[in-house]
Amino acid sequence: MENQPLSHLSTLETGGTAEFFAQPESLPQLQEIIRQAGGIPVYVIGGGSNLIIPDGIIPGLVISTRRLVSFIRRDEFSAEIEAGYSFPRLVSSLSVMGLGGLEFAAGIPGTLGGALMGNAGAGGRGVCEFAESVKAVDSSGNLRTYRRGEFEYGYRHCALSGMGVIAVSALMKFRSAAPGDRDEYISFMEKRKNQPLNFRSAGCTFKNPEGYSAGKLLDECGCKGLTVGGASVSEKHANFIVNTGNASSFDVTELAALCAERVREQTGIILEPEIRTLSPCFRSQ
Ligand SMILES: Cc1cc2nc3c(=O)[nH]c(=O)nc-3n(C[C@H](O)[C@H](O)[C@H](O)COP(=O)(O)OP(=O)(O)OC[C@H]3O[C@@H](n4cnc5c(N)ncnc54)[C@H](O)[C@@H]3O)c2cc1C
Repeated sequence: MENQPLSHLSTLETGGTAEFFAQPESLPQLQEIIRQAGGIPVYVIGGGSNLIIPDGIIPGLVISTRRLVSFIRRDEFSAEIEAGYSFPRLVSSLSVMGLGGLEFAAGIPGTLGGALMGNAGAGGRGVCEFAESVKAVDSSGNLRTYRRGEFEYGYRHCALSGMGVIAVSALMKFRSAAPGDRDEYISFMEKRKNQPLNFRSAGCTFKNPEGYSAGKLLDECGCKGLTVGGASVSEKHANFIVNTGNASSFDVTELAALCAERVREQTGIILEPEIRTLSPCFRSQ
């Protein structure tokens, strides 16, 4: 597909148009698309819930993983799950399967692939803990399996994300459901009530610097309510930038830079972005 508008693929609902766009429905289809692409930049979008899609034309091929959604139970505790599988659906349906462990991730939007690439989580935990292995394709369309221990991960970071690969599926291993799981799930959902969930956003703008809360720092530096174009810092949670109407990605990026500069000036602390800007994963071979 050519000249495909992308804003509807991001929870911020900003951003431009892909020169070429594909939504493969299977691994062989994805491999074929990459092999046919012929030396152009390739980008990947999952649920678009941690993403700023640049304005204007995005030169190259944007691949959405949203149709890679199979879920195959391997044994009592494990399942091979494709990258486009809905992450909230996975978290909420584990208990139905008699499994548990991911309750801390209750309410995180997006896909499993996006969650793995950023080690999404909360309360000091992250989804990568549960990945036994991840299958990913490279710029030649070749498939490789990365086993646990072959990729390091930490707070909102997974090394696979810098390796120039598209994650296609993961073997996830959970534990037996436990009596306290439901309460934990509910308590993590409750904590989300302090987030501006009625507005379009891409979650937290900045990572928490060691020993600090980014939201608290931004609040103390007077960032709440700051506005650039159609983008504003939420009055409810200072680490959320919301699209209040017709924001552009430029507005969001400028506002984030303004906030980071305020915090640096007033506290000397450098905030690191948690939201990612869509950039090429690789150039197809
Ligand atoms: C209201 C709200 C609350 C949120 N709360 C949290 C929270 O509590 N904790 C948290 O960690 N996050 C949170 N987020 C952010 C976001 O939901 C997570 O980071 C999520 O895991 C991103 O997944 P995604 O599929 O939307 O990824 P996308 O936003 O589509 O992509 C994120 C990055 O991963 C890359 N990517 C995506 N899929 C693949 C793939 N298959 N292979 C290779 N690269 C890929 C993209 O190119 C991009 O660089 C929140 C977001 C919102 C809107």
